[in-house]
Amino acid sequence: MIIKAPAKINLGLDVLGLRQDGYHEVKMVMQMLKLHDELTIEALRGGQGITLTTNVSYIPTDGSNLAVRAAALLMEEFDIKDGLTIFLQKNIPVAAGLAGGSTDAAAVLIGLNKLYKLGLGTEELMARGVKLGADVPFCVMKTTALSEGIGEVLTPVSGMPTCGILLAKPPFSVSTPKIYKAYDSLNDVAHPDVDAILQDLENGDLKALAGHMGNVLEAATGPMYPVIGELEKAMKEAGALNAMMSGSGPTVFGIYNNKEAAAAAKRALQKQFPGVRLIVTEPLS
Ligand code: ATP
Repeated sequence: MIIKAPAKINLGLDVLGLRQDGYHEVKMVMQMLKLHDELTIEALRGGQGITLTTNVSYIPTDGSNLAVRAAALLMEEFDIKDGLTIFLQKNIPVAAGLAGGSTDAAAVLIGLNKLYKLGLGTEELMARGVKLGADVPFCVMKTTALSEGIGEVLTPVSGMPTCGILLAKPPFSVSTPKIYKAYDSLNDVAHPDVDAILQDLENGDLKALAGHMGNVLEAATGPMYPVIGELEKAMKEAGALNAMMSGSGPTVFGIYNNKEAAAAAKRALQKQFPGVRLIVTEPLS
């Protein structure tokens, strides 16, 4: 069985506060992209254990891989004794603010539910997903959503209008907990108008949406890594309606009127940013 696991971007990311338990209360708009990992999942009757292989060398393949953790969770609950092999074709940049691990975990939950006819509905899969990570329920649901609470309270909203998106992943990773910690020590951060973003989606107004996009975590990640601001500037100079950082970064994305314009911008940025991974994609509708 082959399952696609799409990447996400945040069109808006606001932090409302820090809870007593150390989690952050967020208000985010999440949009899936056509860029996806691909998981090939096979049951090994009479086999044992979960074996994961992947095309990249820089992610764990043991029990700490989120795809393996998702499989273990369902196999334990439903007492599945088969062995399982997962081949993970990793196309989404890792530790990049694109929910790569979370979406792989969601794909495994969806895949095993089908493979073993477990009969779990979307809500039931989402309830299991949140045990693996705050973004996993969204990755199970896959529709554009307002995400509140610690990320697990989801409300489906209108999808993004057709456009081109250029992703730029600098050659380093950032740790999400570290960025949140740096954010907590900041004063006077400008907050995005998330409600305006939702209204723009409802109206299908790409230009207004681009104008309202914003991510408070950029106030933490941006000063640590000047290339983030440089990429945004270059994307806008190359015709982006707007550009900003996704999640806790470091990936920057630019919004273009269409895929061709995003591809032209990619060509313009390639020479200027040789170490940066550039990917042209579109919203997943
Ligand atoms: P988010 O946007 O949800 O914060 P991210 O895109 O920043 O996520 P991931 O790509 O999920 O981050 O990677 C975070 C860490 O998780 C990495 O250090 C990586 O080694 C580990 N990891 C575990 N499982 C996976 C997986 N299936 N794919 C990618 N990374 C994984």
